[in-house]
Amino acid sequence: MLKYDFLFKKGRIVDPANNRDFVGDIAVKGDKIAEVAKEINTSLAEQVIDISGKVIIPGIIDTHCHIARPNALGAGYRMLIKTGVTTAIDFAGPIEVIIGEITKYGCGLNIAVLEAVYPGKGIKNKNPTRAELEKVINKFLDSGAIGIKIIGGHYPLTPEASYNIIQLTNKEKGYAGFHVGTTETGSNVLGLEEAVKLAEGKPLHIAHINAYCRGYIEDPLLELKKAMNILKNSPNIISESHLAIHNACYGGINGNGIPMSYVLRNSLKAKGYQVSKEGLEEALRVEYAGVTALVGSQMEYIYSDEAIDYWKKHDYKVGICFPINRRRSAEVCVTEKDNGNFVVDAISSDAGAIPRNCILSHGLSLVRFCALTLSELVQKISLTPSRMLGLKNKGHLSIGADADITIFDPDNAKVAIVLIGGRVGMVSGIIFNNPGKLIVTERGANKLKKQEISLEVINLEDSLYLKGKRGGDK
Ligand SMILES: [Zn+2]
Repeated sequence: MLKYDFLFKKGRIVDPANNRDFVGDIAVKGDKIAEVAKEINTSLAEQVIDISGKVIIPGIIDTHCHIARPNALGAGYRMLIKTGVTTAIDFAGPIEVIIGEITKYGCGLNIAVLEAVYPGKGIKNKNPTRAELEKVINKFLDSGAIGIKIIGGHYPLTPEASYNIIQLTNKEKGYAGFHVGTTETGSNVLGLEEAVKLAEGKPLHIAHINAYCRGYIEDPLLELKKAMNILKNSPNIISESHLAIHNACYGGINGNGIPMSYVLRNSLKAKGYQVSKEGLEEALRVEYAGVTALVGSQMEYIYSDEAIDYWKKHDYKVGICFPINRRRSAEVCVTEKDNGNFVVDAISSDAGAIPRNCILSHGLSLVRFCALTLSELVQKISLTPSRMLGLKNKGHLSIGADADITIFDPDNAKVAIVLIGGRVGMVSGIIFNNPGKLIVTERGANKLKKQEISLEVINLEDSLYLKGKRGGDK
């Protein structure tokens, strides 16, 4: 038996944790990185793969995506791995759906789940009692979710309920995520300001900062300035931003004929459409709004009559999108620094089963634009994300690290090879559908160990989430 299973030759190795950026070779044995050097002897490996002209990085970790989407049938896993993702946080769940899918559809991915709590899901209305919240938070943390997501931008809760979720989730040693907005504010920069106040210095992951700078409150440049200042002064907050033009919301309509999602309502208002079922239908007809639908093995945007038919046929329970995110907000959120550190910690996709997995494609555009170095991009899409979750063996290519590797062509952002835990996950668009792995805390592991599902147990004590950005974790 040879010393190595795989040997990747002549790739540009970009590994900011180890200050590496050079053309060289990486060897893998079993599920670990076994050697990294300028040159490794080809006779030592079972399989030698020439990756000249390509870049090899630690696997992309998407800190905010949505796999368990309506009608997706596993498309989210396929769409993630095709764009080089090896680990992801599903930012809403449901955990039961992921547990049911991850072995069958998982594509070998490592998935952590934050479970969303909103009226009709775990709680009765927008002002649940502390006791009601305590019960539901514990239930979700016991069922394998690493934490709880407040989805206030779409389904606002009272400030008190939002406060209680953040505080109780932290008390129960879970990971709290917040798409900002309450009944007092909204999915905007005022909601961001409020969310930081509601955290009261406790750890909180605030989702997609760019989405609060759409110009709903004031000039988007002023909103950006405010958002960056808030984050600079809040070391307890970790955050990501995404690079997609489209947003995503739920197309459901309530008993009064009004779209249920507040983000959807705002998107209609922003272009002068009536906030109603009819207004949404009109927006779909003129292709301002699109529907996300399963086309073949992937989710895609569909428009006009086709979209309206699909939306109605599914009783409005579909994903809807609007091209409403601003490019300059995306650019500032990705690049802004304070004392040499990025203000927004990571670049996420907020995609998965939503067709906007552009972490690498748009991320590389920013590298070509000289807004980021390639090493900084890897920091924001792999290294820092690994630390956000306390995944010590991921996010870098040290010897002994998990063999999670993404290899891509820097000229066209096409992902050539994805290795997860030393297993081939994807080669040139062809997916090897290995069972996925659920990332859980000890608490979730206790409940799930009897099930036939592969687990990766993390300790949030090791995470940037709990340590905070002044916690000494470099
Ligand atoms: Zn999201």
